[in-house]
Amino acid sequence: MARRTEHQGTPQRDAARHHGGPARPGGPEPLTDRFGRIHTDLRVSLTDRCNLRCTYCMPAEGLDWLPRAEVLTDEELVRLVRIAVHRLGIRTVRLTGGEPLLRRGLPGLTAALAAAGPELSLTTNGIGLARTAADLKAAGLHRVNVSLDTLRADRYAALTRRDRLADVLDGLATARAAGLTPVKVNAVPVRGVNDDELCDLVAFAAEHGYRMRFIESMPLDAQGAWERDRMITAAEILDTLGRRWDLVPAGREGNAPAEDWRIAGTDTVVGVIASVTRPFCGGCDRVRLTADGQLRTCLFATEESDLRALLRSGADDDRIEAAWRTALAGKGPGHAIGSADFVRPDRPMSAIGG
Ligand code: SAM
Ligand code: SF4
Repeated sequence: MARRTEHQGTPQRDAARHHGGPARPGGPEPLTDRFGRIHTDLRVSLTDRCNLRCTYCMPAEGLDWLPRAEVLTDEELVRLVRIAVHRLGIRTVRLTGGEPLLRRGLPGLTAALAAAGPELSLTTNGIGLARTAADLKAAGLHRVNVSLDTLRADRYAALTRRDRLADVLDGLATARAAGLTPVKVNAVPVRGVNDDELCDLVAFAAEHGYRMRFIESMPLDAQGAWERDRMITAAEILDTLGRRWDLVPAGREGNAPAEDWRIAGTDTVVGVIASVTRPFCGGCDRVRLTADGQLRTCLFATEESDLRALLRSGADDDRIEAAWRTALAGKGPGHAIGSADFVRPDRPMSAIGG
């Protein structure tokens, strides 16, 4: 097992300056890579399944979902998260997918994960949030990010291939009322699809007390149809917003991928995640676990480490911790989307956990 991650990229010589902060005194030895980056954030995919079919993510017919037996059980997941928090210094855990709200018994799993001690957040398409937000908050979830690319019902139906905009809007309001705050709204602008709605989305978020973030589209769709020319770059996003408002740079929240901008004279903050045009690999503090128990050191990694096999072979916590550290030691400096030798990972975003 423990296949190494060796993806291409520009060496980030200043990585150590941006690492995830000093280890807690008396806490576990930090999860460090050879560039000095300390990893304190874990993304956990709870399922690869989804109830939407966003065109920039997966084909209309969906994908060959993982067989249930291959997906980590609640007990396996909780054990890995406990190891991550208690032995590896992970502090924040984000639940994602696929659509994480499709995971059966999510409130119970959330409570068990929260008991391991990390700050817990969730990324969701928002369908089902109206039904679950209060239970998830009571179970120990701190915050949600909700994906919403358009405010127009017909466009939403075309983009996600499901007519569910009203459910998402309900979900957002319920999440805010339940205290899953700050509620962040994530949109992926695509040329000719929703790029005329950037200002509307910001105004909508400001009006409802959500925080808007735009994400550059990445070549991680299952169908391999991503085209650079259809990506709306961070520079274009800022240019569009800047024509309507004065934007003041507001830095980053810790090692967050979003660069924040405040609309002058207001407390409205907009985040822009420039994964493609301005990669933030030098400050990366993230590690990922797929729903079938594969550890990935990067969204764009082409190799994985099989923690599920270890778990199911009866390995003790020491061995699992060691495998985790070995995988991190092999983490590459960064991805190379911009270069000719970029290799797409085998799995799409929805199967890795976005
Ligand atoms: N289903 C949940 C959702 O949509 O929020 C969680 C998983 S989804 C893969 C996580 C995030 O990835 C969403 O904000 C989605 O918009 C984003 N995403 C999906 N495909 C993408 C792509 N090709 N490029 C950039 N972001 C993408
Ligand atoms: Fe599902 Fe999220 Fe992919 Fe849309 S972006 S198809 S909601 S996993």
